[in-house]
Amino acid sequence: MASVSTREGLVDYAKSLDCIHCGLCLQFCPTFRLTGAEASSPRGRIHLMRAVAEDRLAPDATFAEEMDFCLLCRHCESVCPAGVEFGQMMEYTRGNLTAAVERKPLARLARWVGFRRVLPSRLALRLLGSLLRLAQVTGLIKLAAKLGGRRGAGLLDLPAIPPLPSRRLLPAVTPARGGKRASAGVLEGCVMPELFSRVNRATVQSLAALGVESHAPPGVVCCGSLHAHNGDLDGARELARKMIAAYESLGDAPVVVNSAGCGAHMKECHHLFDESDPWHERAKAFAGRVRDYAEFVAPLLADGPAPRVSLAGPFAWDDPCHLCHAQGVRAEPRAVLARIEGVEAVPLEGSESCCGSAGIYSLLRPEDSRAVFEPKREALERSGARVLVTANPGCQLQWESGLRRAGSDVRVVHLAELVAAGLRPDAE
Ligand code: SF4
Ligand code: SF4
Repeated sequence: MASVSTREGLVDYAKSLDCIHCGLCLQFCPTFRLTGAEASSPRGRIHLMRAVAEDRLAPDATFAEEMDFCLLCRHCESVCPAGVEFGQMMEYTRGNLTAAVERKPLARLARWVGFRRVLPSRLALRLLGSLLRLAQVTGLIKLAAKLGGRRGAGLLDLPAIPPLPSRRLLPAVTPARGGKRASAGVLEGCVMPELFSRVNRATVQSLAALGVESHAPPGVVCCGSLHAHNGDLDGARELARKMIAAYESLGDAPVVVNSAGCGAHMKECHHLFDESDPWHERAKAFAGRVRDYAEFVAPLLADGPAPRVSLAGPFAWDDPCHLCHAQGVRAEPRAVLARIEGVEAVPLEGSESCCGSAGIYSLLRPEDSRAVFEPKREALERSGARVLVTANPGCQLQWESGLRRAGSDVRVVHLAELVAAGLRPDAE
């Protein structure tokens, strides 16, 4: 790794000083729980960042490894009495580490292709989805997983990719049914149409049933959250500008997001820009319009029709980290579930702890990801739930693959799928 100028370069030194070393975050950190090592805890990572900034430690491979090991779940932020902004600190450090690290040419090429050519392009994502489906159907995926070594295992966790006709994109406008109460923008997302297009359809169908006309600007593909979490801050800024401009064309309509990770990033995207940059204010105005699906739908359901489902329960709600810790949204999904007739909800122990998905973490570090998931699966088993409800594609993927590996037949659904099915019993 190249040496870098430290204090103002690699880490956010000012933010690191907020930590008062109380240690209250340690037991909530999934990586600390795995290793028991201080360096793998939030306090330990902040200590390392501070040591680098003060030139007491070189930003070497060990430092980079502890930064990469973090799931960026932000559970530490929720429990921190000092208000440490750990997520922002970690994104900043990863962004600068990416610039400082001398990667092998192949790794550099893979990052460039993935972040700059595939994720922002609907055409490339469609092609990738079709190639993965072909590999799954022919069994070549097993060979690819083997060739991929330690990281290849994540390929086997992918759900069965549906054929192209089932991966329908959202129409630019989905009209309200039975009288329009409101308009909203919706985020179609990058991987959602390839893996969970049914969730996107459920989202706009349930909004339509609640009298909301939804608009999916066709030019918006990826929000850039994966870029920001994985050290490509320039790529994240480029996508943020494009996204903000597209939703500005919808006036001040709220923007409804069914992916907790994307929603959290969109609500905070102004942090990508310096306050002196005109995009900072535009991003702030945009961020103020972003609503998680549950946040938007809960009040509409409270004074609207009660959905009714006939799925066999009980149902357990698992809080996506970027919904509860990053967005502070906890009550609304529970209110939505409570409003659905036929849903018997049971508590899930540790529902706010990370499932190990963490964006592309489960692909990059499949062994750690599975180790983090295991206590979640055990808690689900103890809960007696037959349906696991979540609100983030990564979590949905992680639960589906983890339960499949364990031979469990517990069903995994997105909250929007339940609401849509409940409002249109014929569609369940
Ligand atoms: S973000 Fe999550 S994994 Fe990272 S230090 Fe905080 S609690 Fe631990
Ligand atoms: S809870 Fe906050 S202040 Fe206490 S050690 Fe953790 S990050 Fe530092």
